[in-house]
Amino acid sequence: MRRISILGSSGSIGTQTLDVIRDNPGDFKVVCLAVNGNIDILKKQVEEFKPDFVSIFNEKKALEAKNILGTDVHILTGMDGLIECATNEQVDIVVGAVVGMIGVRPVVEAVKAGKDIALANKESLVTAGHIIMPLAEKMGVSILPVDSEHSAIFQALNGEDKKSLHKIWLTASGGPFRGKKRDELKNVSVEQALNHPNWSMGKKITIDSATMVNKGLELMEAKWLFGTDIDKIQILIQPQSVIHSMVEFEDGAVIAELGTPDMRLPIQYALYYPKRIYLRGDRVDFYSLGKLDFDKPDLETFEGLNAAIDAAHIGGSMPTVFNAANECAVARFLAGKIGFLDIADMIKNIMEKHTVIENPDIDTIIGLGDEIFKEYM
Ligand code: MG
Repeated sequence: MRRISILGSSGSIGTQTLDVIRDNPGDFKVVCLAVNGNIDILKKQVEEFKPDFVSIFNEKKALEAKNILGTDVHILTGMDGLIECATNEQVDIVVGAVVGMIGVRPVVEAVKAGKDIALANKESLVTAGHIIMPLAEKMGVSILPVDSEHSAIFQALNGEDKKSLHKIWLTASGGPFRGKKRDELKNVSVEQALNHPNWSMGKKITIDSATMVNKGLELMEAKWLFGTDIDKIQILIQPQSVIHSMVEFEDGAVIAELGTPDMRLPIQYALYYPKRIYLRGDRVDFYSLGKLDFDKPDLETFEGLNAAIDAAHIGGSMPTVFNAANECAVARFLAGKIGFLDIADMIKNIMEKHTVIENPDIDTIIGLGDEIFKEYM
């Protein structure tokens, strides 16, 4: 039995992680569930999974929760609560599924504490990959990707010599606006941007898919996870989201992982790695699928992706600035304050004003993010 902490248990990845755990009784003991403030969902999860303690980031909500959750479960709050959840000595594996930069410090602390990480929080590697990956190696910690693309690459590399990796084909559905040009995107609504053709995900990542910024963040993550140059990672539009990414080796062989768009697969693979177990659900039916399509990404229309590639090449503190600027821009777009195309403009403007810091430490990274949130959120 593995003892697990789930940071972000009320979100899309968190609830699907609990789906996997529910389907495999006896395999996991839930030690801690951490949420931002969604007590309704947390209450149901506490009743079902009986964690030893919970962490509610929002301090006001944590106080309210005392009456709602009862006295059987210990309630923590704030960043300290999140870190306790990530580092508690009972825990073997931590699911890092908090959305946003708030998830970076708990992930770093979990690695320091020697916990294996099923990592869904993109910001951790985007902003602090240069710290986390060497630290994980030193601590003998496995960073197991919980993202369909990185899981696919991880699976394709399984048993291979990393030195023989020639190229990564990072696939993208293209989102709801694939094939559209800039002038068609001026007036798109929040609802249209939230209408992803293949994947059901949280709001922030769904907007990031519509702008294709998500693929830019994934490019930066892939660089750290697999230790490759940015130039060896090629973004490929694969509208059906059946190929979840591919690896091309030195000899020209390409190995891909295919599947239905179901996040439970990468979650389960990370939780059970290197074992594979049965997963109920739809399977790829190649007869009804008929064909797979491929295309180049349109970097002129999706300027946010272009900015991400720039940020990745510049490195240092620029990916942090890119990411924080995007978080602010997406929040503003979701609040109806700016238009869809303004997201990329805002990112580019904030990046232009920034003087790069080489090798930023965690405090610098968090501080930089906070500065940008304060000014632009
Ligand atoms: Mg993805």
